[in-house]
Amino acid sequence: MEDKKYNIGTILTMKKQHPCGENKWEVVRVGADIKIKCLGCSHTVMIPRVEFNKKIKKIISLDGDKNE
Ligand SMILES: [Zn+2]
Repeated sequence: MEDKKYNIGTILTMKKQHPCGENKWEVVRVGADIKIKCLGCSHTVMIPRVEFNKKIKKIISLDGDKNE
């Protein structure tokens, strides 16, 4: 399986919408687990990378060089 391209700061949509109604997430940590933050309610979730790759619907913005 090939990893999709994402970095910290990447904005993407998931196949499943968050209960708050938002479907856009920002990647906030990349490792063995991926941590993403809901742009609607700022809720964060950790997902194993393999599972995360399956759940991505679309990468919206590949802005991986932002430091926060
Ligand atoms: Zn949310």
